[in-house]
Amino acid sequence: MSPETKKSEKLFELEDRYGAHNYHPIPVTIDRGEGVFVWDVEGKKYFDFLSAYSAVNQGHCHPKIISALIEQAKKLTLTSRAFYNSSLGEYEKFITQYFGYDKVLPMNTGAEGVETALKLCRKWAYQKKGIAANEAKIIVCEGNFHGRTISIISASTDPDSKNEFGPYTPGFMVIPYNDVAALENALKDRTVAGLLIEPVQGERGVVIPDEGYLAKAFDLCKKANVLFIADEIQTGLGRTGKRLCCDHEKVHPDILILGKALSGGTLPVSAILANDEIMLCIKPGEHGSTYGGNSLACKVAIASINALEEEGMYDNSLRLGKILLAELKKIQQERSDIILTVRAKGLFAAIVIKERSGRSAWELCLALKENGLLAKPTHGDIIRLAPPLIITEKQLMECVDILRKTILAF
Ligand code: PLP
Repeated sequence: MSPETKKSEKLFELEDRYGAHNYHPIPVTIDRGEGVFVWDVEGKKYFDFLSAYSAVNQGHCHPKIISALIEQAKKLTLTSRAFYNSSLGEYEKFITQYFGYDKVLPMNTGAEGVETALKLCRKWAYQKKGIAANEAKIIVCEGNFHGRTISIISASTDPDSKNEFGPYTPGFMVIPYNDVAALENALKDRTVAGLLIEPVQGERGVVIPDEGYLAKAFDLCKKANVLFIADEIQTGLGRTGKRLCCDHEKVHPDILILGKALSGGTLPVSAILANDEIMLCIKPGEHGSTYGGNSLACKVAIASINALEEEGMYDNSLRLGKILLAELKKIQQERSDIILTVRAKGLFAAIVIKERSGRSAWELCLALKENGLLAKPTHGDIIRLAPPLIITEKQLMECVDILRKTILAF
């Protein structure tokens, strides 16, 4: 073992010894990031094909985002919402105008964003829709991932997220994803207040619904006076090749939840957007968070959105996503013995490994790491590919070569 290797090993041991075992990381210790690249503690360079679960869409340490962070950090970071602060109003105006809503409610993590949307939907159900007290239901889809709080896992169908964390929060109705008839049927229940949906199921393995499904689901919700709540925490902000994934079908959700790339990977920033009819159902004291709407987050979020918009990252994601999918299909044809299917929407792609091929997605990710590309399996047989949206065509083709070489030798 070389002295350098020992450094990495020591850091694995440290995390293993002192940290809770709630993750199973790929054995690489990242020390530095810039753009589409990260470097490990031994100095080896990798393409980052996870982008911190799409939080780093703008690339690692984007100069404009870091500069906004540093400038604001020197001036004011947090006041709490006990007082007004000089950045919040500017940010609120900016983000509501950008996405076309009356109001925003700022939070921190994605899970808090989802919790906020659920609470907002329930308030609306009682105050506006007239559902009897404590009767409101929210429809969710099989295979969903919306975070890890008790209420959110109550809506989950994933045993790993859910088992032995009960008792669960009531009020959820689970239907199959991408199934219009099932939604139509569920909406017959008059106590349904909302549909909480991921426009593409990211954690499930980049599961893309049929074209037209979101628009149809939105129309059905409108007819039933049910709120369409889009969890765009992972799919939003360019990941699927548009500003929002719902933009592909011209759907304007009643409640929009954003997170992750809203801070370009610098700090937890989430946002819940809605019009007054819905948002003003929550009154002072009924919901909040110490850090939600802090000055630092506000400045960083503005810079993060500006970077995506000004540097053409939505279009880049759309264009290069098509190239990536075409290349993945070619690789699949070459190794149809181990690859079941490939799929992509923008730069949000997945390779599904055949279960009976005897090879796991984990093993393939380890091989990719050796060849300089970092990706993480999801659900044992799926590898999600989600590079920063600033990747160039030349860099993408280098990555395709790594993928091809690794998969052919697998
Ligand atoms: N919703 C979706 C669609 C997600 O992908 C995630 C995280 O992966 C979350 C919610 C939860 O976000 P966070 O981990 O910031 O709580």
